[in-house]
Amino acid sequence: METQKLYEEDVYKRTFRAQVLSCKPVKGGWQIVLDRTAFYPEGGGQPGDCGVLDRVNVLDTHEKEGTVLHLTDAPLPIGKRVTGGINWPLRRSRMQEHTGEHILSGVLHRFFGVNNVGFHMGSACVTLDLDKPLTADQIVLGERLANEAVYQDLPVQITYPTAAELKTLDYRSKKELTGQVRIVTIPGYDVCACCGTHVSHTGEIGLIKVIGWTHYKGGVRISLLCGSRALRDYGECLHTITTVSSMLSAKPKAISDAVSRLLEEKENLQHQMTAEQNSLFQVKAETAKPNQNGIFCTFETGLEPDGLRRFSTLLAPKCSKCAAVFSGTDGKYQYAVASVREDVRAFGKSMNAALNGRGGGKSGLVQGSVQASQQEIKDWFVKQ
Ligand SMILES: [Zn+2]
Repeated sequence: METQKLYEEDVYKRTFRAQVLSCKPVKGGWQIVLDRTAFYPEGGGQPGDCGVLDRVNVLDTHEKEGTVLHLTDAPLPIGKRVTGGINWPLRRSRMQEHTGEHILSGVLHRFFGVNNVGFHMGSACVTLDLDKPLTADQIVLGERLANEAVYQDLPVQITYPTAAELKTLDYRSKKELTGQVRIVTIPGYDVCACCGTHVSHTGEIGLIKVIGWTHYKGGVRISLLCGSRALRDYGECLHTITTVSSMLSAKPKAISDAVSRLLEEKENLQHQMTAEQNSLFQVKAETAKPNQNGIFCTFETGLEPDGLRRFSTLLAPKCSKCAAVFSGTDGKYQYAVASVREDVRAFGKSMNAALNGRGGGKSGLVQGSVQASQQEIKDWFVKQ
């Protein structure tokens, strides 16, 4: 039986009374059919509404052959009259974003001849897929023009033209349409066939903000936020910028320069430290004494894999077999084993097997880590 769809009569209806016609257990809960509903079912790129039916939660809403199916977390008695309430902040946000998407798609279509070939309202943002590439300047211009439509607070018109009227109408549509076609018009900006929920005036969108774009299937995918979600995102970004700005003692708009300077300083210090370390390694290597089997094993504090590699490579010519350098703490040591005369991969493998390690490399150098104490490592090396 076809459900009476209150959201088509009044998209702002948040609560309603209805009778339970059926209720059956399904995967993830119960499926409830009402005689009438204000819950918008998933369709046209817009997710289904959430909310409550009395004290039962509606988790999602779908439509099948004109019947609206409410997925709930508990059953309701058949025949009961219930009060439905939709999650209004969520629905209004979707209405803002759905209408904002129409305007931006309409503007980009009109100015740059691109067609919207995909639309998804995600939990993080809305994405729209356009069939041709756009430059950054074109997207920024499109965003600016779309927001002009918001400032003008234009009426969003819903019409159901006849088949003859449709033939003469220039409108956007993502697929071949059959039966009654619902046309959403934003005067001067967009005419599009759509079954979703939209705000009644463009001013309610508040803001249309492009937050990113990427090449996608020969065209471009634009990520978008509107209204309440755009405001929340602005708040989060501002918080991040303010925090970083205070950490760097730089004005918010100067933080990228400040970070560039920091990275440059870090790189200079890194070079300086590497040079100092190399001198120190040189001195240590001069006094290094391999054991009777030509192996030298040493422990250093605070060495990264790059330092381990440099020191072991410097020690290798002193050893007829190999040089091993370890850095870390008991239970987790990183290592590098180098040789100028032998392939050390087999040596590394047997060390990993004995000391609970992992790693590998090339003939003259292997690197990795072992889960062992300093004593256990020393004991193993004595036996080599
Ligand atoms: Zn729409």
